[in-house]
Amino acid sequence: MPYQSPISPGRSWYEDTAGPRPEYPALDGDRTCDVVVIGGGFTGLSAAAHLAKAGANVVLIEAYRFGDGASGRNGGQLGTGQRAWAEDLEAEYGLSRAKALFDLAEEAKAHLLEFTAANQIDIDYMPGQLSVAHKPRYVDDYKAHAEIMASRFSYPHISFMDARETAERLGSTAYFGGTRDTGTGHIHPMKLVIGTARVAALAGAQLFEGTQSTGIMSSGGKVKVSTPRGTVTAQKCLIAVNAYGGTLEPVSAAHVMPIGSFIGATVPLGADSNVLPGGEAVDDSRFVVRYFRKSKDGRLLFGGREVYGVNDPRDIHIHIRRQIAELYPALGDVEITHGWGGYVGITVPRKPFVREVMPNVISAGGYSGHGVMLSNYFGKLYAETVAGNRDRLKLIEDLKIPPFPGGRRFRTPLLFLALNWFALRDRI
Ligand SMILES: Cc1cc2nc3c(=O)[nH]c(=O)nc-3n(C[C@H](O)[C@H](O)[C@H](O)COP(=O)(O)OP(=O)(O)OC[C@H]3O[C@@H](n4cnc5c(N)ncnc54)[C@H](O)[C@@H]3O)c2cc1C
Repeated sequence: MPYQSPISPGRSWYEDTAGPRPEYPALDGDRTCDVVVIGGGFTGLSAAAHLAKAGANVVLIEAYRFGDGASGRNGGQLGTGQRAWAEDLEAEYGLSRAKALFDLAEEAKAHLLEFTAANQIDIDYMPGQLSVAHKPRYVDDYKAHAEIMASRFSYPHISFMDARETAERLGSTAYFGGTRDTGTGHIHPMKLVIGTARVAALAGAQLFEGTQSTGIMSSGGKVKVSTPRGTVTAQKCLIAVNAYGGTLEPVSAAHVMPIGSFIGATVPLGADSNVLPGGEAVDDSRFVVRYFRKSKDGRLLFGGREVYGVNDPRDIHIHIRRQIAELYPALGDVEITHGWGGYVGITVPRKPFVREVMPNVISAGGYSGHGVMLSNYFGKLYAETVAGNRDRLKLIEDLKIPPFPGGRRFRTPLLFLALNWFALRDRI
């Protein structure tokens, strides 16, 4: 039986195409180190790699296997800037802070590409991103966005697309206009997970899979992390569990909420297909965003239906095929070979959550669907913090993310109601 992530639904196409996925042992016994990292997704693995490269003695524990959370299973789209448009950040924080946040995200993008190139991690990078309006009323916003990015944020790679160009580039007339960003692209996320773990291990990080943290205690300048078969005592701890942390640490749990997101992979569409002839990734203007792209071997990887809170993975194929057919009627009967999902960690304002939740313990997550480049970079910024420079991580800490209303008991039903309202608004 092929391995199946016990915490995310469905076996992903990435798992079948990532190549060998080395296994790491479970922790057995007690360890002492400089830094203990909890969670083996992009955030934790990147932190472990950069900490170990900087000479720290680091232990990383992952409850299941690296990439079993969101990092090995996502849409692979890097995007540009933060999740919120730079002009919205400017309206909220003023130009100089908005620019600093935008520039940080651009550093994240550059870092990801440099890190993978320097460490010979082949991530199937494909360039290009189309962002498209599913309602005519949004088209002017995209036009203004392209202009603002060039004139105010010194980012010249975004151009406006009218309805005709949008239809040509998508191979679909379902959208009314949008933008094309030639300064970003999309990747095979599981290959990045495997490669980053390899880099961390080679640099001397002690990596453990199948090792769930069951508690964190911080006192007297030391942090002690317990697991079923041993403890890790360290000077510092990074909590990198994002949407998968459950009740491990209450402050993170109150601020980062899991929502399900699902992807289907079709059979290869063939050389004569007019779907995305330029190979770009796409995201649309729906609040319940649809995101899709073609893989290197010509499949359509289509992400869409989000169910807030509890979800049933059995109907991923049906829902994804229906959404594909809305955009590409000719693909109404297309065979879907893989359907899978994972949990996105969102925050109330859809901005990342970084906070010192107890002495010497920092939690990072809540990238709100924009974590592919940010989470990898936050791992590096955490390593910088441990080395004594907290300036850049502080830009994010200062965002002051509020907790979800309703407490642990009522926040899921409240969010469900709120997000269903937005999903309804997408349709009218
Ligand atoms: C379907 C889907 C599509 C997405 N598409 C995109 C996209 O196109 N672009 C984009 O930018 N972002 C996207 N995202 C979001 C992106 O994948 C995440 O922001 C990013 O992977 C977060 O990485 P992470 O390391 O913080 O968390 P994760 O990768 O979720 O890792 C957390 C890890 O912590 C482990 N863990 C939890 N509790 C414990 C414990 N007690 N002890 C030990 N380990 C524990 C989990 O097992 C898990 O492996 C998507 C997410 C999903 C689910």
